[in-house]
Amino acid sequence: MIRLVLFDIDGTLIRSGGAGTRAFTQTFKQVFGAPQATEGISFSGRTDTALVRECLTRIGLETTPEHVSMFFETYVTILQKNLQELPGEICPGAEEWLTGLESIHHRPEIGLLTGNIRRGAELKLASYGLWSRFSFGGYGDDHEDRNQIARVAFQRGVERLGTSLRGDEVLVIGDTPHDIACGRAIHAKVLAVGTGGHSVAELEPYHADWLVPDLRSISPESICL
Ligand SMILES: [Mg+2]
Repeated sequence: MIRLVLFDIDGTLIRSGGAGTRAFTQTFKQVFGAPQATEGISFSGRTDTALVRECLTRIGLETTPEHVSMFFETYVTILQKNLQELPGEICPGAEEWLTGLESIHHRPEIGLLTGNIRRGAELKLASYGLWSRFSFGGYGDDHEDRNQIARVAFQRGVERLGTSLRGDEVLVIGDTPHDIACGRAIHAKVLAVGTGGHSVAELEPYHADWLVPDLRSISPESICL
């Protein structure tokens, strides 16, 4: 039985129309005068803090706490503006999945496992009315390495449950090979969805426990009970 479900955000719960990626580029332009910092970088499944380090390195700057906080202070303002301007959407079936989970008799704890910093996660999900569905999670400001964020989210889930938890009682839902890998890092079950930057065929070689085109294709009950 699944007692903890951890959701990725981008490409799993929502598609923000590139709001996050664009905010990265615009912030590097505004704060460091370096719009080229993000050119050619793959954002999918990465953590915000790892991306900031990579971009800073590319423009010859050290990843100091000052540079990182200079970046994120502006990033959240620009992200919010982009979320208002760009057309995005809730991924097919995601909202129904949350409702389905919430209505399970012994409902699992429901949290986030994302590379977004917490404030970025909040802005993204709030603009689609989904932030209030989550009371805890592991975020990009908890760690630079997604596998470590998974460990943080797992531990917070244990604290909420107030009991010990086995890896196979945890379900990680995500849209990239990075999500599958971080689920494996905590010995969780993994549900991979083809609603982000990777097709079902591209995700196939990574052997998630379940692989579906979108969350309409599988019910929470069929996995969690
Ligand atoms: Mg994602």
